[in-house]
Amino acid sequence: MFLINLKVMADVPSIWWTSHISLLSFPCGHGQTGERPANPALWWVNGKGAEVKWSFEELGSLSRKAANVLIKPCGLKRGDRVAVILPRIPEWWLINVACMRTGLVFMPGTTQLTAKDILYRLRASKAKCVVVSEEVVPAVESIMSECPDLKTKLLVSPHSQNGWLSFQELFQSASEEHSCVETGSQEPVAIYFTSGTTGAPKMAQHSQSSLGIGYTLCGRYWLDLKSSDIIWNMSDTGWIKAAIGSVFSSWLQGACVFVHRMAQFDTDTFLDTLTTYPITTLCSAPTVYRMLVQKDLKRYKFKKLRHCLTGGEPLNPEVLEQWKAQTGLELYEGYGQTEVGIICANQKGQEIKPGSMGKGVQPYDVQIIDENGNVLPPGKEGEIALRLQTTRPFCFFSEYVDNPEKTAATIRGNFYVTGDRGVMDSDGFFWFVGRADDVIISSGYRIGPFEVESALIEHPAVVESAVVSSPDPIRGEVVKAFVVLSAPFKSSNPEKLTLELQDHVKKSTAPYKYPRKVEFVPELPKTITGKIKRNVLRDHEWGRT
Ligand code: ATP
Ligand code: MG
Repeated sequence: MFLINLKVMADVPSIWWTSHISLLSFPCGHGQTGERPANPALWWVNGKGAEVKWSFEELGSLSRKAANVLIKPCGLKRGDRVAVILPRIPEWWLINVACMRTGLVFMPGTTQLTAKDILYRLRASKAKCVVVSEEVVPAVESIMSECPDLKTKLLVSPHSQNGWLSFQELFQSASEEHSCVETGSQEPVAIYFTSGTTGAPKMAQHSQSSLGIGYTLCGRYWLDLKSSDIIWNMSDTGWIKAAIGSVFSSWLQGACVFVHRMAQFDTDTFLDTLTTYPITTLCSAPTVYRMLVQKDLKRYKFKKLRHCLTGGEPLNPEVLEQWKAQTGLELYEGYGQTEVGIICANQKGQEIKPGSMGKGVQPYDVQIIDENGNVLPPGKEGEIALRLQTTRPFCFFSEYVDNPEKTAATIRGNFYVTGDRGVMDSDGFFWFVGRADDVIISSGYRIGPFEVESALIEHPAVVESAVVSSPDPIRGEVVKAFVVLSAPFKSSNPEKLTLELQDHVKKSTAPYKYPRKVEFVPELPKTITGKIKRNVLRDHEWGRT
């Protein structure tokens, strides 16, 4: 139903949504008449002078044309799966809404996927259509003979290619007339692949209700968005965070989605963008904030920034403190999963305990449970879990596609288990310990990597680190830290610095947690989303391939 709202919002040509878009209408703010501020639905820039601004009304008419492209020349039918592998270009948003209009299942993927990744996705999903930009064409062509279900290849590019339908050409001649299909709440709307931090990405299928209703709450409470806001969510188009910050949660609040087509993250471009555009809300991964606090941020005056968010990985308290000291702004962390959206968050108006992920968010009842599904009291470490009511919560994913065993493995008694370990304190705040597989057991002590990493990053030599288990003949396993050094410490004596870091951790946290082994590395292995792949380092330590 809420998706219908989004579809309808994009359809209604009323003055409320029309808000004439012109460069002159900025900066935003409520007009004297109390009408909706003149924010576009989408504001896209490429950093080289090109700019696109679409009002909700324009988004409506353009997405109706896009819907006609998907249905007529592409020959797609309601329920068909469409793999959309596009960079941050405006067409990604058009095709996203066009899929909702037509009942097609939107399946985004990042352009960083290799031919092998694409083959896995197309085969596993039995996608009927693939929509790509030019740079992805060779990868798709190299594997398409192995994808018997693939019927249509659509290219988004000013140039045409043999064997590919041209989105641009078809779009020009497509009609603006299109009526939305009326979908049921449990009908699939999208398939998101998990990040693949711990293995092959899983295909989490979401229903109309899970993305539509679930993400409205997140837009209202965690992102704190209003129609006067402009949100810059830096997530790649392939990840669930794009569905949250760049589509559902933002547009359902009537906020403007700002997009910078940055091919790669670059701190100078980033800071320049925040000082140039009236962005009010920023959402980015902790790794970005870790890089930013290395800069002298006091030199920059961000134009309108008022609300900063992060998630996807634990945020070290040191980074939160530094961001606040340098910008005067809090950092509101959210903890969630592709499967179930935001689970815990620090929300506006609530106390923030640095290092905590905040409290459980609506509509979830978040608990810490043991291996038998019993709820543990405050202060006890266990698995972070969501209580299942008599019916499955409406914002839950429907299933891992074609994987009933994996879907069933997420349920323990009356709970959905996240696979993450944590502690709830007596005030109801949740503290992340680590992914269940990442917890280190040394001489009988259980050690969560996040706490050690957070202690390490307090030291000026450390930009970031990954803490994993390493074999030890006496203790079984010990704590090992892989450390990326900050510029002034790159040429330090490694033995001396190791001792200094070990000493620092012993003082900052319980001494038994200190890293007995330290290795300095130029960078850490990460997923395309920027998450640290501790399992790669751990497997290497244990001689596993
Ligand atoms: P895969 O399931 O394929 O191994 P993934 O779990 O990284 O990959 P996502 O769904 O993108 O895929 O990420 C969810 C996970 O990210 C959570 O289960 C948790 O481990 C981690 N995470 C997300 N937000 C936070 C946070 N604020 N603090 C700590 N961990 C977080
Ligand atoms: Mg996961």
